[in-house]
Amino acid sequence: KAKQFDLRDIVASYPDFPKPGILFRDINPVFRRNDALNYIIDEFYRAYGKAKVDAVAGIESRGFVLATALALKFGKGVVMIRKAGKLPGKTLKKSYDIEYGSAVMELQQNAISKGESVLIADDLIATGGTAVAAAQLVEEIGGKVAGFAFIIELSDLHGADRLRKMGYKVQSLVT
Ligand code: IMP
Repeated sequence: KAKQFDLRDIVASYPDFPKPGILFRDINPVFRRNDALNYIIDEFYRAYGKAKVDAVAGIESRGFVLATALALKFGKGVVMIRKAGKLPGKTLKKSYDIEYGSAVMELQQNAISKGESVLIADDLIATGGTAVAAAQLVEEIGGKVAGFAFIIELSDLHGADRLRKMGYKVQSLVT
C-alpha cells in the first residue's frame, strides 16, 4: 500500500526555541502517528535488517522512543544512554560539547557484552557531538557500533558526514 504522507510534512518547526535564533525541529507529531512509526521502523529495518544487531541503544530522551520501536522490529532489547546521574551501578561517563559548554552522558557497564553490535538511535543529528560520544561509550565498554539511525539529519551541521568519515554507517530519513 502506498504511503499517504511525507515525514517531512509531519515534522514541526519552531523558530526561537529553546532560545532565540534556533529553529527547533519537533519530532513529537511523528511519534504520535502509527503510520509514521511503522514507516520509520520499516525504513530502518531495510537499512540494517541484514546487519548484525544485538541491541538498540537510544539517546535520552527522544532516542528512547525510536530505540524501543526499532528493538521490537529487530527482535532485540533496548539500551539507554542517559544524561549523567540517572543510572545506578557501574557506569561509564563521557563528556561532549554542546552549543554552549559541555554535557555528560552515561552508560551502564553491564548493558552491553563484549563484541555485541549496537544500533544507536536518536531523533535528530546536528553537529554529531552527541552521537560521537554515544559511540565512544558503546565501544569503550566493549561493544561495536552497527550503525546510526536518525529520523532527521540537519545537513548544514555535517554531523552525519563526520560519522561517515569515522567509518560508521548512518541512515537518516529526512534531511
Ligand atoms: P548534536 O550533538 O549537535 O548532533 O545534537 C543532537 C542532539 O541534540 C540530539 O540528541 C537531538 O535530540 C538534540 N537536538 C539538536 N537540535 C535539535 C532540534 O532542532 N530538534 C530536536 N532535537 C535537537
